[in-house]
Amino acid sequence: MTYSAIKSRRISVPVKVGHVTVGGGAPIMVQSMTNTDTADAEATAKQTAALARAGSEVVRITVDRDESAKAVPHIREKLDRMGVNVPLVGDFHYNGHTLLNDHPACAEALAKYRINPGNVGFKEKKDRNFSMMIETAMKFDRPVRIGVNWGSLDQAMLTELMDQNAKSSEPLDVREVMHEAIVQSGILSAERAVELGLGKDKIIISAKCSEVQDLIAVYRALAARCDYALHLGLTEAGMGSKGIVASTAALAVLLQEGIGDTIRISLTPEPGGDRTREVIVAQEILQTMGLRAFAPMVIACPGCGRTTSTTFQELAQDIQGYVRDRMPDWRNNYPGFETLQLAVMGCIVNGPGESKHADIGISLPGTGELPAAPIFIDGKKAMTLRGENISEQFKAIVEGYVKGRWG
Ligand code: SF4
Repeated sequence: MTYSAIKSRRISVPVKVGHVTVGGGAPIMVQSMTNTDTADAEATAKQTAALARAGSEVVRITVDRDESAKAVPHIREKLDRMGVNVPLVGDFHYNGHTLLNDHPACAEALAKYRINPGNVGFKEKKDRNFSMMIETAMKFDRPVRIGVNWGSLDQAMLTELMDQNAKSSEPLDVREVMHEAIVQSGILSAERAVELGLGKDKIIISAKCSEVQDLIAVYRALAARCDYALHLGLTEAGMGSKGIVASTAALAVLLQEGIGDTIRISLTPEPGGDRTREVIVAQEILQTMGLRAFAPMVIACPGCGRTTSTTFQELAQDIQGYVRDRMPDWRNNYPGFETLQLAVMGCIVNGPGESKHADIGISLPGTGELPAAPIFIDGKKAMTLRGENISEQFKAIVEGYVKGRWG
């Protein structure tokens, strides 16, 4: 399949983050962030490993004080011992220059440093602290992310732009000035890093906002005005379906326009919730948009009054679970299986049509239909299943298909 989003993709300067390439046309990378206390090396390594195993290709950890900085090399060692080679990114605010300077083992263990230009320092300390972080990046040959966040925007820059705007004969809307401040904060900081000697291939920019329309406006401007790799994410997206919907709405528009080299979904976990949810959502956004494939897709109809039994919901759930269980083995033995598409449909209305579009589809009998389930493979009707164990028969067909096509 060819997708317009891929065709029009903005090509940025590629950046190596550990063994992962970001930008330059590389597959859009999924990243996540831990919420453990980094000083607790055991808990942070465990959560990082879980995020990596769920599919996070880079994991960011907070480095906020000496204890956290001291723990970073131990976290790296623990991950290496577990066979988890995911690159670690250090998230620095306020005191990153001091922590990186005082803890060279931390600087060495991290694959990238996140610098927030809005809180790296104020007045005359700003450039000095920023320069210290860039010099550490050059010393250890590490890339940085210039991570602007509108919740911690450079207030001096914003005030200056507001003053200029007030004097302008055609003043902009306050919101537009805010957007300009966010964009300028990212680009000017990146340019300053280049001036200090850091390569453009060592810089990623992000400019996170918490409102969908602001995020879209800011990233469109960034994409038009620079060729740095861009990290996308709606900050403070929220909890549950609200966070997922808001992130998807914002990122889908930008990704469709070819903007974005790496993404993170900032979901607030429900109490006791699983942190890896943000990784799965990021993968699902990319996969449903046709930008990457991570796992076989099971398409299921929503069900309606034509299918009053629960058979179809049970089968859809059963097949989804089966695919999830088989993935580790398929991943090792059948490269390419991720693009598999299955359809589980509830009745004759859309069942055969949707099933024909999938690699394998099953159209179950709706209320009043004959108790038979036609199977479609590669668009053609292949057989009809009957009896009590349709689920087991269908799984055997799926298994055979995976082996035959990707074995
Ligand atoms: S395929 Fe049939 S059961 Fe499923 S939603 Fe459509 S009409 Fe309803």
